[in-house]
Amino acid sequence: MARDASPIRDGDAMSNISALMERNRAFARSGAWRNTPRLPFVPFKDLYIITCVDPRVDPADFLGIECGDAIVARTLGGRVIDAVIRDLSYIAYLVEAKAPEGPYFEAAVIHHTDCGSRLLEDSELRHGFAQRTGYDEQELAALPATVPAETVRADVAKILNAPQVSTRIAVSGHVYDTASGLLETVAEPVRIGS
Ligand SMILES: [Zn+2]
Repeated sequence: MARDASPIRDGDAMSNISALMERNRAFARSGAWRNTPRLPFVPFKDLYIITCVDPRVDPADFLGIECGDAIVARTLGGRVIDAVIRDLSYIAYLVEAKAPEGPYFEAAVIHHTDCGSRLLEDSELRHGFAQRTGYDEQELAALPATVPAETVRADVAKILNAPQVSTRIAVSGHVYDTASGLLETVAEPVRIGS
């Protein structure tokens, strides 16, 4: 059964995003949105970035990613969950089906230091979240990017071993340091069978 939603009539009743609408208008005026890749939407930098939802960890900031430059998937911890595999395999399939001559992109997995996913290392918090939601506690226990260089390598391997994903894409792994702003490569790009 659907849960009832009612409009928020707090204070001036403005949504949080309405405060940013002027920035949107300026973006529209700039015309930057015109410069975009065409179907199958392989981004200009041939990159499919998977990183954390953390607001400090935005590739637009630390890699200067601009409109059309990269596909960016953001999950808790930047972990490669099944939904990431599905989307990645779909985009790779689109290239195979619509532009088989390529270029084929690189999937770059980026985990980071001081990640909020690590709060799930706390068994009490993890248990409470599992109780509240029904998510599997064992799976939640495997989620934290405790040692990002290790979790990033595990997720690179997960993509490389996923039979759904085209073997024509490359996969790499990197760690972003929130204390320095620096990105370090811990897994050089590889392809299945290469
Ligand atoms: Zn994080």
